[in-house]
Amino acid sequence: MARYEDCLRFVDGADYVLHCAALIPPRSDHNEKLAYECDYLASKNLVDAINASPTRERIKFVYIGTVAEYGNRNRKTMWGRVGDPMISSDYDCYSMNKIRAERYLFEHRPANFVSLRQTAIAHKYLFANNMSDGLMFHTSWNGPLEWVSDRDSGRLLTHLVAYDMEGRLKGFWNRIYNIGGGRSCRATGFESVSQGFALMGRSAKDFFSPEWNITRNFHGCYFLDGDELESILHFRRDSLADFWARMGKKHWCLKLAKIVPPALIKSLVFKPLLKDENAPMYWVNNGYEGHVKAFFGGREAFAKIPRRWAEFNLYCEGRDEKGEPFDNEASKDLAWAQKNHMALDHGYDESKPIGSLTIEDMRQAAAFRGGECLSESMKKGDLWTKLKWRCAEGHEFTMSPFTLLFGGYWCPLCEQPKPWATGKLAAHSPFFAQVYFADHDASETVDSYPLGGNGEKD
Ligand SMILES: [Zn+2]
Repeated sequence: MARYEDCLRFVDGADYVLHCAALIPPRSDHNEKLAYECDYLASKNLVDAINASPTRERIKFVYIGTVAEYGNRNRKTMWGRVGDPMISSDYDCYSMNKIRAERYLFEHRPANFVSLRQTAIAHKYLFANNMSDGLMFHTSWNGPLEWVSDRDSGRLLTHLVAYDMEGRLKGFWNRIYNIGGGRSCRATGFESVSQGFALMGRSAKDFFSPEWNITRNFHGCYFLDGDELESILHFRRDSLADFWARMGKKHWCLKLAKIVPPALIKSLVFKPLLKDENAPMYWVNNGYEGHVKAFFGGREAFAKIPRRWAEFNLYCEGRDEKGEPFDNEASKDLAWAQKNHMALDHGYDESKPIGSLTIEDMRQAAAFRGGECLSESMKKGDLWTKLKWRCAEGHEFTMSPFTLLFGGYWCPLCEQPKPWATGKLAAHSPFFAQVYFADHDASETVDSYPLGGNGEKD
């Protein structure tokens, strides 16, 4: 797919192009070049090929985006929705390239497209893929994750095509949606890991030490607007518990692990993984200072993580980071999110119908992103004609109101994740600051993290 000529052949005569191809972590963490080719270049080639096709008006393009585009979320930002800022986690080649690709799609839009931002998939290879890589430790214990099962994700695409062919998807195209499994698929990082180990009659506490896992710089959130896609495509059947029950049947022999002392499994299976170059403890022990800073907030913050589970505050045990009472189950309810005003600010009056948005709304949105709208006028409600903008750094660029307001994008130079300088962008932009400074302190504005990764020391 990194070859344009091949993409031309793929789309020739197609009615639908379902672009699910991606190189995801952990493989994208180990092969930056392949992540670029698969996650960015392949997407660009498909968009270009469709736009060059004589039947381009007929082709319907489905881009599968990712929850990773929303960056790391914590207690303050645990609920996400379309229009939230696009922030790649530092050192994450996957989200970096997915963000670039999606921006390209919006700015070169084919006649009929949709971006479906896929959340974490609970799939049958989950165990096998993650048990052999340091990625296993990239989940923060209290981080919010809304899963969706592999079967439900597949059903979604089947319904999409079937319903569209029946003419039932009026108003569906040229928009962005989040794919999530809903209430029954929401879990914190600790709950997610422990539900897997429950197949062996164990929990994360039996095999992990608290400081083995990162405290920030991953991704995952609960979706405020995930039910919208469900109301259109009716794809949800599985809860997270259903998925684990299915895995239990498939890996029935895991039950036998109950008779093995957990300390033995810890030393034979998990401790060796700490030496994997994708493991946070490897970064700590081998001078990967950029990684230690990005994923823990630095060595001092790492040193403060309790080493014993009894002292570590877990949402699922009713305590927040400071040990204050926290109702974890309630925090997964949409009603709780609405009552606690968890929706991020998008910097313009969202109560207005789209058709009545004017240049004044664009000026407001630009100011909230730390810049200005240079265009003097726009056609009322026109989301597609590109306007001119200037960011806080003085870069001038053109971009459609759709990409800005609904995509969550801003200056293409400042928002390039590399060299991992989101802090610099957030320092001038309340829009990005609301996510970035929820888990970074005020001093983390200037220094970008050294590139590193992929076997090189920072
Ligand atoms: Zn800029």
